[in-house]
Order: sequence, then C-alpha cells, then structure tokens
Amino acid sequence: MTQNVESHAFQAEVQEVLSLVIHSLYTERDIFLRELISNASDALDKLRFEALTHLDWLPEGETLGIALDADSEARTLTVADNGIGMSKEDLTGNLGRVASSGTRKFLEALKEGSAENTPDLIGRFGVGFYSAFMVADEVVVETRKAGAEEGWRWKSDGQGEYTLEAVDDLPRGTVITLHLKEAQEDEPDYTQEWTLRDIVRRYSDFVEYPIQMEVERTEPKLDDDGEPIEGESQTVTRLETLNSMKPLWTRPKGDISAEEYAEFYKHHAHDWTDPARTIHFKAEGTLEFTALLFLPAQKPMMMGEEGHPKSRLSLYVRRVLVQKECEDLLPVWLRFVRGVVETADLPLNVSRETMQNNRQVAQIRKGLVRRILSDMGKWFEEDREAYE
Ligand code: ADP
Ligand code: MG
Repeated sequence: MTQNVESHAFQAEVQEVLSLVIHSLYTERDIFLRELISNASDALDKLRFEALTHLDWLPEGETLGIALDADSEARTLTVADNGIGMSKEDLTGNLGRVASSGTRKFLEALKEGSAENTPDLIGRFGVGFYSAFMVADEVVVETRKAGAEEGWRWKSDGQGEYTLEAVDDLPRGTVITLHLKEAQEDEPDYTQEWTLRDIVRRYSDFVEYPIQMEVERTEPKLDDDGEPIEGESQTVTRLETLNSMKPLWTRPKGDISAEEYAEFYKHHAHDWTDPARTIHFKAEGTLEFTALLFLPAQKPMMMGEEGHPKSRLSLYVRRVLVQKECEDLLPVWLRFVRGVVETADLPLNVSRETMQNNRQVAQIRKGLVRRILSDMGKWFEEDREAYE
C-alpha cells in the first residue's frame, strides 16, 4: 500500500540543537542509549498507569519491556518498547519541537555561554531524544499509540526536516531504529553486544523493565543424554536480560553505592548533576513506607513558574507507579525535594482527589517532613558551607 509521505520542518530551536549535536566534539556519546531507554521506560510507566483504567490495553500475560537489537552488517541498532506509543500529534509535538526540559535548559545555557563549550553543555543537560543523532545519520521511529488503530513512521537525518507516513500493522509501542554512523577508530561500536551490555549496566541497571537482547553463544553440542559431545559445538541464540531491574529503594542501604544513588537520581529527576543529599529510609509501624529522597545540588529549573508541579515525589504502591508528581506528599515549601515513596498501604487507584483527604497520606507526609528536616539539621552541623 502506498501512503503519502509528509515532510515537516523542525522547529528552528530543534534544528539548532541538532546541528550542535551532530557537529559537536562531545565524546561521551554513550549517553544516547540512556536517553532512549529512559524514554522507553517512561512510555512503559505511562502504559502501565493507563492500563489501570483501560484494562484491554494490557492483555494478561503480556510483559512490558525494552528490546535492543543490533545488526553489525547493516549497522543498525533498534530500541523497542511496548509502551504507550505516540499518535501523529504526539510525534509532531514531541519529536520536532523542544519538548524536554533538558533540551530547553541546554538552549538557555547555550545562549548565555559560547558555542565552544557545547560539548560540556550536552553532557550537563542532555538533549533527550535528539542525542540519537550523535551516533546515527538517520533515525526512524515507528510507533502506534495504545488504543489507536493507525501507526506512524517518523524519519529524519537531522538536517532540517523529518517525514511522517501512516503505517499499517504496527504493534503497540515504539521501535526506534538508528542507522549508525561509521564508528571512528577509537569509538565504541554500538552494534557489539559487549558495548551495549556495558552501557546498559552503567546507566540503566535500575530501570524497572527488562532490557533484553538476543545474544549468540557457542556452546558444546549435547548428545541424547544431555552430555556434551567432545569437539562439537553449535551456535545458539538466547534472549538475555541486561539489567538487574531491582528498584533501588527496595535494596538494603548498605549495598548501594554513592554512584548507584547518583545514577538513580539523575534518571529519576532528569538532572545532570549529582544530588547534594540522599535520604533513604524505611518507616515501620502502623503505616509502612519506604522513601528515597534527594536534595538537588542546584535550584530546580522553572521552580515557582506557572505549570511547575508543586511537588516532585513519585508515589508507588506495590511497585506500581500511581502518581508521578504527587502534590500531597510534601508541603509546597519542600517542593525542591525529589525522589520516590513506596507503600503497600494505599489502594492502586487512589485519585488526586482522594489523596487530599486520605489519612494515610497525611501520615506519610508527616513522616517525610520530619525526616527531611532532621537530615537538613544534620547537614547543617556537618558541613555548614555546603548546606548554605
Ligand atoms: P523528555 O524525555 O525529557 O520529555 P525527550 O527528548 O527524551 O525528552 O523526549 C521527548 C518526548 O518524546 C517525550 O517526552 C515523549 O513524550 C516522547 N517520546 C520519546 N520517546 C518515546 C517512546 N519510546 N515512547 C513514547 N513517547 C516517546
Ligand atoms: Mg527523555
């Protein structure tokens, strides 16, 4: 079936970002994968959340996950998720305009500084989806939104325009295919299993969904009794999960390194600097909850601006994210605190309205405030300079 292919121009600001990303000498290109995986993980969160009210969007038995697939001959890498997907409007709104706060911040810093420190700025603020163009000279996004029939293909070489066309029979979710640039001599090859495995472990180990990849292994051939036959081997393909997936806050404090906390914070808060303070605790008693809270090192962007959330804590109930920017967990004056709170003592379908008058929520809030203030007091005594 032939379809109309529409061309669209990138918003001027996006084109500026793309040109910088493409031509910059930024060396830590590995972060493109973290960005794509983080988007996939956000899309899976959204689907999981929406599926609470649209039961048919997530058929029983379907596992939510992220799949990587590399082809070293074709020099392609795909990152696929079965998350919420994007409609045509989502595509034009998100992948053609400046949608992410990181990109916005990058642009602002760029205006203040000079073009020479672009590489540094890319590292500090990240440029989200557009970072794919650091390693790819063409990016194809195929996506179908949950609940929609029609799927779409978005395609661009990052030079001013992207195209859109309707595509039939796409699975729900998003498949992003990167046509990789030739790898420079001293650069990692992003079609190699070990490269990908290493980047995933470094940046995305705590992502809650399995990040899977088919790997090839040479194994000894087995005889009918299951014993290896000497001198005979075979190549087998297996699907492997590259990340450990364990939500960081559920792990014992003593087992978590400062780097793991920092990586989690950056992923969660979309920040590019390490947190100033980490507060991780479990409250036990009549009401049980676990909190992993962070005090950012810098004043969060847009704080106090209209449309900016009053609080930035995510609420999980039994591993399921029920509210991303839950306003009732902290008073407004603590809105700079980021992190997650998990409890088993609330229903999954708590709505924003019922949260406000919920006794348990009020209790959690009290516990959080007490703990944050006591930690800040400690900080004041330990290192007054940093505190101030
Ligand atoms: P951010 O993640 O900070 O919002 P990005 O540039 O990384 O910014 O992504 C822009 C937007 O594109 C996302 O907010 C999301 O709406 C959309 N998007 C990107 N990747 C996906 C995906 N895999 N599935 C669904 N939506 C996506
Ligand atoms: Mg992103």
